[in-house]
Parts: sequence; C-alpha cells; structure tokens
Amino acid sequence: AQTGTPPMSLLSTPPPPSLTEARQTGWLWSPVAVFLISMATTAVMWQVEVKEAHELARTKSNARVQELTVAIQHRMDAYEQVLLGGASLIATVGTLSRDQWHDYVRHLKVSEHYPGFQGIGYAEYVRPADKAAFVQAQQRQGLINYAIRPPGERAAYGPVTYLEPRSERNLKAHGFDMLSEPNRRAAMEVARDTGQPAITAKLKLASEAANSASFGFLFYVPVYRGGAAPDSVNERRALIKGFVNSPFRMEDLLKSALGSNPDGLRLRVYDGPAATPDNLMYTSESVVEPAGGDHTSPTVPPLHVHSTALSLHGRVWLMEFELPHHHTATIENTPEDLVPLAGLVISLLLTALTWVTMARLQLVRQSARHYHALANFDPLTALSNRTRFQESLEESVLVAGRTGERFALLFIDLDHFKDINDTLGHQWGDKLLQQVAQRLKDGTRSADTVSRLGGDEFTVILRDMNDSESATHVAQTLLEALAKPYELEGESYFVSASMGITLFPHDAQTSADLLKTADQAMYTAKRLGRNRHQLYSPDMMESNQHRLRMIADLRLALKNHEFHLVYQPIVDMATRRIAKAEALIRWQSPKRGLVGPVDFIALAEDTGLIIGLGDWVFDEATRQVADWRQRFEADFQISINVSPAQLKRPDGDLRHWISALQEQGLPGQAIGLEITEGLLLDINPSVTQQLLSLRDAGIPVALDDFGTGYSSLSYLRKLDIDYLKIDQSFVGTLKPDSDELALCAAIIVMAHKLGLKVVAEGVETQEQCDLLLAAGCDFGQGYLFSRPVKPGDFEALLETV
Ligand code: C2E
Ligand code: CA
Ligand code: CA
Repeated sequence: AQTGTPPMSLLSTPPPPSLTEARQTGWLWSPVAVFLISMATTAVMWQVEVKEAHELARTKSNARVQELTVAIQHRMDAYEQVLLGGASLIATVGTLSRDQWHDYVRHLKVSEHYPGFQGIGYAEYVRPADKAAFVQAQQRQGLINYAIRPPGERAAYGPVTYLEPRSERNLKAHGFDMLSEPNRRAAMEVARDTGQPAITAKLKLASEAANSASFGFLFYVPVYRGGAAPDSVNERRALIKGFVNSPFRMEDLLKSALGSNPDGLRLRVYDGPAATPDNLMYTSESVVEPAGGDHTSPTVPPLHVHSTALSLHGRVWLMEFELPHHHTATIENTPEDLVPLAGLVISLLLTALTWVTMARLQLVRQSARHYHALANFDPLTALSNRTRFQESLEESVLVAGRTGERFALLFIDLDHFKDINDTLGHQWGDKLLQQVAQRLKDGTRSADTVSRLGGDEFTVILRDMNDSESATHVAQTLLEALAKPYELEGESYFVSASMGITLFPHDAQTSADLLKTADQAMYTAKRLGRNRHQLYSPDMMESNQHRLRMIADLRLALKNHEFHLVYQPIVDMATRRIAKAEALIRWQSPKRGLVGPVDFIALAEDTGLIIGLGDWVFDEATRQVADWRQRFEADFQISINVSPAQLKRPDGDLRHWISALQEQGLPGQAIGLEITEGLLLDINPSVTQQLLSLRDAGIPVALDDFGTGYSSLSYLRKLDIDYLKIDQSFVGTLKPDSDELALCAAIIVMAHKLGLKVVAEGVETQEQCDLLLAAGCDFGQGYLFSRPVKPGDFEALLETV
C-alpha cells in the first residue's frame, strides 16, 4: 500500500484540493461549488482512467493476438514436419508395408507430441493401368475387402492406402478415393504440381456427423518417384507417387493453441480473405452458426476487433480476434452514487477517490508497460528483440547491483547457419530459427530472458547464477537441446551452436562490457571447433598468441616424428569378431604431452597443414595394414579419417593414394576412407571426381558421424557410399523405446534399402549393443569392445580371436 502524497505528477489536469486545503478554505466555498469542482475533477480523472484502460486493453489484445498467431503457426509447422518426415521415408524406402507405416507413426508418439492429429495417412497416386494390381496388393496385405470407392472409371485415383492410428473409423476410410472429391482433389493437384505441401479449403470431415457444424481441412504432402520433387511441372505430374496426408479438426487445432483462454478472447477463423458467413470455418463462441445467420451481433458491441491473416501453403485464413466488451465495462461505470453528496463529505470522498484512482492508474500504467514489453517481440520467433534485450540487460545490471545477485549472459551463434540458409532457402532457415528459439525457451526458466539479436544470434540472461559451474551447466544443456535433429523439408538437419558465457559482476560490470565479453567468448568457442560453450577469461586476448605458438609447434611436429596412430577395432555386431580397424591420430608433444585430434585437427585444417598430415596418416596406415595382412588376416582393412580440406583445398587431391597402394601391391580394399557430411555439403565436381576415382580403385568410403550434419540422404545415392557410421551422440543415449532408437532403426532400414552397411560408433554398454543388433546394425565400434590402442596392443586383440 502507498503512503504519503499521491503521485500527482502523473496527471496533467490541475491537482484536486487536498484534505487540509479543504479545511482551511472551506468557509469560502459553497457546497455547490465544492460539489461542482469535485465532480469536474472526478469526471476529468475518470476520463483519464477510462482512456488508459482502453489503451491497456488494446495493447493487451494486440499482444495476445500476436502470441496466438505465433502459436497457431508453430502448431501447423509441427504437423507439417511430421508429414514431411513420412514423405521422406516413403521417397527413400520406395514402398512401405502397412506395418512399417504403423511403426513410423507409433514411434512419433503423435498423440503425446502433436495434440490435435486425427491420423496420418498415405494415398497412392494410382493410374488406371495400375488400378487392378494396386487393389490386389492391398488385399494381399490383409485388407481382404479393399476396393477403391466410389466405384467407376476415372483419370486417376488417390485411394487411402495407409491410415494410422488403426481405429475402426480410420480402417473404414481405406480405399476412399480422395481425388474423386473436388475440394480434396484441388489441394492434391496443387501439391502435385508445385512439389510443396498444400491444404484443402474448409470441409466437413468424413468422421463428423452429417449435421455437425464443425469444420476441418486436409493437409497434403506430395511424394515423387525417385525422391526429390522434379524440376518441371510436367515431370512432377509424370512422377507423382502419392500423398502423405492428415485430416485436422479446426476445433482441436485451435483449442490446443488457444489454451484455457483466460481473458475470454473470441476467435473466428475464415477460410479466405473475407469475413463472410460462408467462409466461417471456426468460432470459439460455440459451434459455427448456420451460414447466412447473423453471427456478428453480440449483445454489446466488441471493444476491439483485431484481424490478421495467416498464410498457409497457398491458402489465407482470416483470423478475427475480439476482446469482449465486459472486459472494460467494470471500469466504465460512472459512480452515480457520488452525485448527491456535497461539502466536506464529498471532499473526503474525493480525496479517497483520488487516492484509489491514482493507485489504480499506476497499476494500469504498470500493466500497460508490461504489455508494451510483450509487443517488443521479434516477429519471427516471438522472443525479445534487440531493444528489449538491451533494456533487460541494463535492468539486470541495476537490480543485481542493488541486491548483490549474480547473473550470467550467454551469447549464442549457430554454427554454419549460412549453409542451411543457402541450401534450403530463407523460408526453411526461418523455420529452423523458430525451432531454435523454442528450444532455448524450453531450456531456460521463466525468469531468464531469451532474445534474438538478429540473424542467427541469440542471447540468454540467466538469473541467479552463483558460479561458473551453474552457468556452464545450463549452457551445456542448451547445447545438447540445440544439437538434436531439426525436421525440415522432410529431412533431418543438424545444427550446432557456439556459446560464450560471461558472468556479472565477475567478468564485466556494465551492460556494454557484458555483451562484449560474451561475444569474445563466443568467438573463442567458434575457433576452438564450434559446438561448444566457452567461459570468458581475460586472457582471451592472449589466446591469439597461443594459437600462433601451437601452429608453429604443429609445423615442427611432423618433421620431428611426434605423431603416431592408435587403432580401434570395428567388430561384427553378430559374431563380435574384429572386422577391421579405424586409425586415430595422436600427437605426443614434448611441451604439451599427449594431444588428441580434436585439439589440433581444426588448426591443421585452417592452416593447410592437414595436407601433409593426412598424407602421413595414409602412409603410416598403409605400412601397418600391409604388415597385419601378412601376419594376421590377408584381407584386413584399416580405415582412416579424411578431412574435407584434403579434397577441397586447391592443393588437395587424394588420387595419388591410388598409385601409392598399387606400388606396394595392396588392393584398394586395404584402406577405407571416412569422410564427413560437411564434405558433401557444398560438394564440387572436383570432389565428386576424386571420390568416384577412389571408389573405382576399390577403396570403400564411409560417411562418418552420420546424423550430426546435414544428413541429406540424396548424397548417399549419388556418391555410391559403402558405410554409414551412426554418430556416437545417438548411440550414447539409446534406451528401449526411445526416440534415438527409433531414429537409429530408421537410419538402418534406409541404409540397407540403399545398399549401405551400418557401423554404430561409441558403443559403450551391452544394452546399446543388444538394441543395435536387434535393429539390424551390422558393425559396432566403441569402448565396449576396445578403446583405441597402440599397434602392439591391437595385435594382442587380433591374436585372442
Ligand atoms: P571419429 O572419427 O568419430 O572417431 C571416433 C572418436 O570417438 C575417437 O576419438 C575415439 O577415440 C572415440 N571413441 C571411440 N569409441 C568410443 C566410445 O565408446 N565412447 C566414446 N565416448 N568415445 C569413443 P578421437 O580419437 O579423439 O578422435 C576424434 C576425432 O578426430 C575423430 O572422430 C576424427 O574425426 C578426428 N580424427 C582422428 N584421427 C584423425 C586423422 O588421422 N585425420 C583426421 N582428419 N581426423 C582425425
Ligand atoms: Ca572416424
Ligand atoms: Ca565418428
């Protein structure tokens, strides 16, 4: 509660007489004058408050509208990803069985993760010549009565082929020819011709009662023979294979987006740009009133109507939000009871009223400020924007300065985001940024402030961080959350981030310095290999020096024979026999001790030293494999890691390895190459040429760290890759029934379909081994079998089996 003088300065009107003033000068005033002045003052103040309240209501409803629009958009994006995932699965695997589709949908845990889904189906595009064979194939798969409905001859058919989950209602829908219904056909044709997802106009879903007033729509994603959408419309029409699709009820979709709707906002959605009764698709009031009925006549006219258009795959939905009148009605009632009162009573009351009103005005202003802040969003991600971030940071500095609180600032920059943007286009880049924003929000507390400064730069203010451990712990959790796959365009993409951490007041005491130090720490994280967090330290300035010294040492290391290779067995999953070995480089530095590759490979790549180093690894591994072939197994193989730079740099070309093998009388299979997805990302003709020549010489190629990069499956086909190595980050978290297991299983199915063998990396436990074996994995590598060891120890392993 407030004490002392009311904050009069808030009012621009003359201040009302205070209690003491009224007593001193009371005899001069007739009761009528007091009454008039009091009432005039009351009226003025009242108007001010009413205006403020209206303003607040308007800001509040605007913020709410923005929030809701983003929520609905997000939800639609999530649904779209599920459909794109299904489409990519069918495009890759070719023909799925009904059971495989069932498994895919089950693993998604749709009802848990994507509320509002009615089902996910697939409709094959059946040409008349294939109709009989198609129907027979369906009947063979267990649906004995499968038939395309309605009967009759048509130019093409789009019968429901699979539909999950397997409810009775969904089973009945099998065979329904979606192309026979004009609204569905229109959307399917758009999807087919554009290669993009499309949605239908509003329709009554088959599952609704005939007299029901609720509407829905269908979402279609096209699938083409041979994978990606062909370039021309004619080809797309010729190669269309079918449609992954999903029905939606507006009510379910919007209820889940609206939440509990505490402020009583009303929402109407129109299918189309005009708010006509015929277009009305959803209303939150009750059910949709019959077309032609007067649906816009609530008893009191609404205070604010806010319309906004949502563009969804070629269709426009007009959304009309309405803040109901009763919201402000309580504030607008004139206090008529005051009218007959006069004299001292009115002065007293007036003073009291002034008090109450001033206090309320303040409250109203405060919440107005609060909602103004909400409007300070970044439109893409709904996070705070740069301005708001700067305010929050200054606020945090002020508050923490007073209370002695410590907090941390994280500066986050995505790694190689530009590549994603360039390969996929901005539209998908934007979707990825939205998902990143969501993950950052999910990974922090509500008191923390997550902002997007622009581009792929984000910041997080972590409140109440007492030490660097707590801050790095949060940073690590966020890194892990960001490293999980992003479903875009039906494929999984992986993006990592680099984070700088700075602590208030330890590292910096002003908002400007906080930002600068966090930024420096982030750059250091980038330089140290990305996908990591880095605490700020004052010697970051010195680290440039350090880097230069390291480069100098590396240059000498090769001359001084400071490198050696260790070998890790790759075992046959089923028999546990050692099938081959991977060579891993180590640097035994006289100054620094044993240095692992993660600490120097990136430097070697940046400086070009990797060319000489890579050749040394090849020579050493070749020498070793020749020896082991003679002494242990005649067809033994050692695989070596190849950096993208070794093929991409102008001075890099691996084709001389072919003749080197020949000279030693070794076949191509004696050496295997492990390349990473980074190499394939902006692959140029020279790289393709080199890889294909090496393949022709019989040298097998493995795609390393699969799942961490831009796993575009199309590369696997084009480049004739032999092995896929599932990255250890998936294997490490394998649990029965986990998402990771579903992912591994899917990778294995796809790899086998494409004729690739699969190696699981980082197998550490028997449970992981069992799960992978059950999922059909061919080879395993990891501490469960053996750590990387020196040649002598590896020979001992070879001898024991
Ligand atoms: P990589 O190719 O993915 O190699 C596997 C890494 O995982 C190795 O780390 C290995 O020691 C480690 N590892 C193996 N089994 C397990 C396990 O069960 N659990 C865990 N946690 N880790 C396991 P290392 O030797 O430190 O190598 C790191 C990376 O450095 C390699 O990752 C590879 O990308 C690169 N690298 C290593 N040697 C060379 C080389 O000669 N040339 C190039 N260009 N890169 C190399
Ligand atoms: Ca490797
Ligand atoms: Ca790997």
